[in-house]
Amino acid sequence: MIETLPTLTEVVKQYHLYANKKLGQHFLLDMNITDKISRLVTPFNNVTVFEVGPGPGGLTRSLLKEGAEQVIAIEMDDRFLPALADVGAASGKRLRVIDGDALKIDMVAEAKNDGAAAEIKIAANLPYNVGTKLLINWLTAEPIFWTRAVLMFQKEVAERVVAKVGDSGYGRLAILSQSVCEVDYAFTVLAHAFSPPPKVDSAVVVLNVLEASNRYSHLTTLGEVTKAAFGQRRKMLRKSLKNIATKYNVDVQTWCETCGVDSQQRPEELTPAQFQTLTDYVVNAA
Ligand code: SAM
Repeated sequence: MIETLPTLTEVVKQYHLYANKKLGQHFLLDMNITDKISRLVTPFNNVTVFEVGPGPGGLTRSLLKEGAEQVIAIEMDDRFLPALADVGAASGKRLRVIDGDALKIDMVAEAKNDGAAAEIKIAANLPYNVGTKLLINWLTAEPIFWTRAVLMFQKEVAERVVAKVGDSGYGRLAILSQSVCEVDYAFTVLAHAFSPPPKVDSAVVVLNVLEASNRYSHLTTLGEVTKAAFGQRRKMLRKSLKNIATKYNVDVQTWCETCGVDSQQRPEELTPAQFQTLTDYVVNAA
């Protein structure tokens, strides 16, 4: 029984699990918060939940306590393996821990190994640089293999995921996320809730993958176009898109005009739909 395990604070002491700053480690030891996150992952019927970066296992415990049928946790710091093994033993074989780097692991193959559930969901509280990289990998995966991700980021990154045109955080992350998912800023978690506290507050975002007919398909090229445009955020599109226009052998002015976009605009003025139209044009030109 998960409820009979020693507290997370006791486990951290028992296994000397001090936080390694180089790995961006800040632990959530307050199970009220991890329970709240795991409720955002429900329902769990016929679902495999991937938890990335479980650390001492707070969110892992909450997922199992809330009834997750199958959790695959990926952790690259093997100091946490004994504590996670205790959680696994208390879970009735519902937890498998992979000792490795989530950036390198084929999640689809791992889920198949355990007998494919109907759905894959993802839950994670990760250092922000790894989290952003992983989110972009998951969004651009072809085919998209997951249905929901519940992710904790530093607050400013969470705001970038849900930003709309005109918001200060609007950019590539918002466009990619919202081209594939319905996104929701769930709640803020203040820095002092973590041990040790990071310098900034965090927030949980929920991304629900849209029905196939409503989601944009050329995510890799959309990633390329938005990278070029927002890589030179202060410049007009006719400048920032020049190299990519050359790559796809299109004239930047004709490209923008045909798509109904003013080439003198700056990228933050364009909606995700306008970026998708620009992307369709170069996909068709290729
Ligand atoms: N989820 C735990 C919690 O909320 O207490 C730990 C959070 S801590 C911010 C991030 C965790 O992700 C650490 O345990 C760290 O070792 C792990 N981690 C960092 N990069 C990773 C990667 N590329 N693959 C797997 N785990 C990673």
